[in-house]
Amino acid sequence: MAAFDVAIVGAGIVGASVAMRLAPTHRVLLLEGEDRPGYHTTGRSAALFEEAYGPAPIRKLTRASRAFLESPPPGFAADALLQPRGCLFVAPHGRSAALDAALAAALPGSVREISPEQALERCPALDRAWIARVLEEPGSMDMDVAAIHQGYLRAAKAAGTALVCGARVSALARAGGAWQIDTSAGRFEAAHIVAAAGAWADEIGVLAGASPLGLVPKRRTAFVFEQPAYAATMANWPMVVDIDETFYFKPEAGLLLASPADETPSPPCDAQPEDIDVAECAARIEAASALRIARVKRKWAGLRSFVADKVPVLGPDSRAENFHWAAGVGGYGIMTSPAVGRIVAAGVCGQDLPDDILASGLRWPDFGARRLAG
Ligand SMILES: Cc1cc2nc3c(=O)[nH]c(=O)nc-3n(C[C@H](O)[C@H](O)[C@H](O)COP(=O)(O)OP(=O)(O)OC[C@H]3O[C@@H](n4cnc5c(N)ncnc54)[C@H](O)[C@@H]3O)c2cc1C
Repeated sequence: MAAFDVAIVGAGIVGASVAMRLAPTHRVLLLEGEDRPGYHTTGRSAALFEEAYGPAPIRKLTRASRAFLESPPPGFAADALLQPRGCLFVAPHGRSAALDAALAAALPGSVREISPEQALERCPALDRAWIARVLEEPGSMDMDVAAIHQGYLRAAKAAGTALVCGARVSALARAGGAWQIDTSAGRFEAAHIVAAAGAWADEIGVLAGASPLGLVPKRRTAFVFEQPAYAATMANWPMVVDIDETFYFKPEAGLLLASPADETPSPPCDAQPEDIDVAECAARIEAASALRIARVKRKWAGLRSFVADKVPVLGPDSRAENFHWAAGVGGYGIMTSPAVGRIVAAGVCGQDLPDDILASGLRWPDFGARRLAG
């Protein structure tokens, strides 16, 4: 019998969430290639919980994750995981049609159109002359990503999960009805494998003999800057996104965090920001507001990994035995992590989707790799 029931490859937010769900009933091994969990995309997000964001299945997963993030189990985290933020989707002149399209896309009931004047009350730095129309989502929240990630890891370890860092998986083979897993920290054995390797998930799939998903890591840049003119008031501003998602900004620990919302395809790597992306974002924000970006305090980039339809691939592979996907969570991986963890765990247990996910109309084929074949 293999030493572990399940080996999860990758200890980012997805792997950690799956580990927490399986640990009470399985012997779980969580393998992380880096020296610490969270080094890659999980540690580089904008930390927004936004039910109006992404394709319809993503919005359902986000909604299905809200209860956990609002009321995590006792002891999961010291403080609240969500804090009110709100979000404005701003359409400049000539882009009214994009706002109408967003309104028609069955967004959560809390999304409503407000006047440009109301938008200026929420964020006085916006330029009235630039704005044509505005949607408001008051329900979007800031997430404490580190607390969520550490909460998953702590709960998983408390239930017996073995977390091994510095263990980069290099080979997978079936032997005696189990998986043999070669890593830079030695060889392990497990009955099931979960590929939660972020930008590297397809590489893990290929090692296991599964067909690659066509996962494309896409670089997204972010940076923070000071804005002394608004320092006293900006903490309560909502996130501001232009309706075509060519920039966003929001308060972040006394600074403003901004992104050009870039999606530049990249090989899996330790992503780094490019000065041109930061400069273009600064110019767009300055054109839409009274904000002036004289100096960037810190900049970074991370890889948001998508398959063709931007819906994650979750659950058992149809070809590789006892091999499970937890991949392609794209730009939604933190806010959907509670639901994604439950779904992948159900797949390992050979169960149907959790009841609330079924009630939302989603089925296993919606997450299966087969849908991508055509
Ligand atoms: C700028 C930016 C803003 C974002 N904003 C938001 C947001 O507001 N809200 C939101 O929900 N999401 C957001 N995201 C997306 C979110 O960060 C990701 O969806 C999420 O972090 C993906 O988690 P993951 O666990 O799949 O990947 P990762 O965090 O990358 O974890 C994968 C892990 O697998 C490990 N690994 C890879 N290969 C191997 C191997 N061979 N052996 C062992 N380990 C391996 C890696 O080292 C890594 O630690 C944002 C992302 C970026 C870059």
